[in-house]
Amino acid sequence: MKIILLGAPGAGKGTQAAMLTEWFDIPQISTGDMLRTAVQEQSPMGIKAKEYMNSGELVPDAVVVGIVRERLQLDDCQQGFILDGFPRTQPQADALKLVLAELDKQLDSVVSLQVDTEALIERLTGRRTCADCGKGYHLKYEPPAQDGSCRSCGGRLTQREDDSEDTIRNRMQIYQQLTAPLENYYRSEGLLVVVDGMKEIPIVHQEIVSALQSH
Ligand code: AMP
Repeated sequence: MKIILLGAPGAGKGTQAAMLTEWFDIPQISTGDMLRTAVQEQSPMGIKAKEYMNSGELVPDAVVVGIVRERLQLDDCQQGFILDGFPRTQPQADALKLVLAELDKQLDSVVSLQVDTEALIERLTGRRTCADCGKGYHLKYEPPAQDGSCRSCGGRLTQREDDSEDTIRNRMQIYQQLTAPLENYYRSEGLLVVVDGMKEIPIVHQEIVSALQSH
């Protein structure tokens, strides 16, 4: 199964990609996660990417296309993969088409998760992560312990730098301008599957799985 997950920031791509990884036993390829690792490691690419990411801008196409091209060639992608957060622009989608053609692979489906803007902002502003074990929280929907620490390991919770309200609004605008048009592109390619991302996480998962199996 070779899938793209499309959706605005906060639509649940990361959460659903992680569940699909288990279900189909294929890797999740998250350009956001790979870039955050590069930033943490202070690699030359991470140093370049950091400013774009912290202000909610997109990292240049050539950089992300390079990461994805390398990643898709690894052995664990031979049976399939879930692209989470890539492509985000038409040039990225065009580059992906070329890379897949070079590798003699074809996409099966592009899942678009639909979530209202107000819900997206509420999800992102409340999002926290344990600095020690990586467990995800939401201040309202999955609150941490009473003292604000991680319920699993007692670690300190952190907020992503790009989850501040101004940066979130910038990310939403960029999504509308540059990424949302990809829906029409993939619809015209006969690949688009639209799923309501406002429902509970396990229900969204089930709906994605059945949509993929019947597509
Ligand atoms: P995400 O974790 O998918 O929300 O991505 C976090 C940030 O990483 C984005 O706001 C961008 O700055 C950068 N990023 C992730 N994926 C891409 C991509 N496909 N193209 C450009 N920038 C990206």
